[in-house]
Amino acid sequence: IKTIGVLTSGGDAPGMNAAIRAVVRAALFKGYKVKGVRHGYNGLLTGDIVDMNLRSVSEIIHRGGTILYTARCLEFKTLEGQQKAAQACREAGIDTLVVIGGDGSFRGAKDMAAQGIPCIGIPGTIDNDIACSDYTIGYDTAMNTAVEMIDKLRDTTQSHDRCSVVEVMGRNAGYIALNTGIAVGALVTLIPEVPFDLDRDVISKMKETQKTGKKHFIIVVAEGAGKASDIANEIQARTGIDSRATVLGHVQRGGSPTLRDRVTASRMGYHAIELINKGIFNRVVATRAESIVDYDISVALSMYKTIDTALLDISHAISI
Ligand code: ATP
Repeated sequence: IKTIGVLTSGGDAPGMNAAIRAVVRAALFKGYKVKGVRHGYNGLLTGDIVDMNLRSVSEIIHRGGTILYTARCLEFKTLEGQQKAAQACREAGIDTLVVIGGDGSFRGAKDMAAQGIPCIGIPGTIDNDIACSDYTIGYDTAMNTAVEMIDKLRDTTQSHDRCSVVEVMGRNAGYIALNTGIAVGALVTLIPEVPFDLDRDVISKMKETQKTGKKHFIIVVAEGAGKASDIANEIQARTGIDSRATVLGHVQRGGSPTLRDRVTASRMGYHAIELINKGIFNRVVATRAESIVDYDISVALSMYKTIDTALLDISHAISI
């Protein structure tokens, strides 16, 4: 019997647990043994490896976070660290590793493959910034959390005729911001992919809409595009409108995963085991037009994806 190791790495995302569950259950069903590596690649270096059985993944499908914990591991970025990690796999009897995480984690998986431990990557990050996949586990839950929070902000923003500048997560990508901005009816959404001019794109637009009777404003800013506090201060200084900054922060990374995240995680986890069972290794599982597909890790890491310009147009057209 072959043994499959599973770990979560990089930033956590709601739905990672559902992915772990799918990997463990599908693997056991096919007759593999499964070991959980805790705290990402760190667990390989410290020997934090646990046996997983059917009940190890009970009661987790609805829980955010990751029962295997996650971490960033600097030592693993060195060749010595990678050799040590591969040796730890061999000692633990792990023949193949399933890595749930982002691009950085997949670079690590590629390095493990180079050390003789074949890997499969599963995209788990709220930021949706993995080029090979239309969708990443956690993205939907994070956006729904952001929408819920900004809906609450809207109530108080409206009551006081204020401007709320809300900073959402996304690292260097604007996916969360763009969709959330549309969903909450933001006047302006600022994303890193589109350079902006505060006067032209924000202040003038606020003044224009003021003429039509608008008294309160929601501005969504992606963390990669600017700081909410700087933008709110500028707006207040130049318009006199009482402006407040809200940074949603890590609440966006938690919470019970949505149906979409649970189902996608289950499909991806199952697909990872199907690949291993067919003897296909060193692939990243991805979604493409609602289907589950997979790419060679190196190809996946060299791919590029762009923001949906139709969404940008919609956002501009209806936020007046
Ligand atoms: P997220 O985008 O959600 O934070 P990520 O997987 O991109 O996820 P990183 O912090 O970039 O997060 O990477 C996670 C871990 O993967 C790192 O701490 C490191 O152990 C490993 N890793 C990252 N980049 C490399 C690399 N170039 N070579 C080897 N290992 C890497």
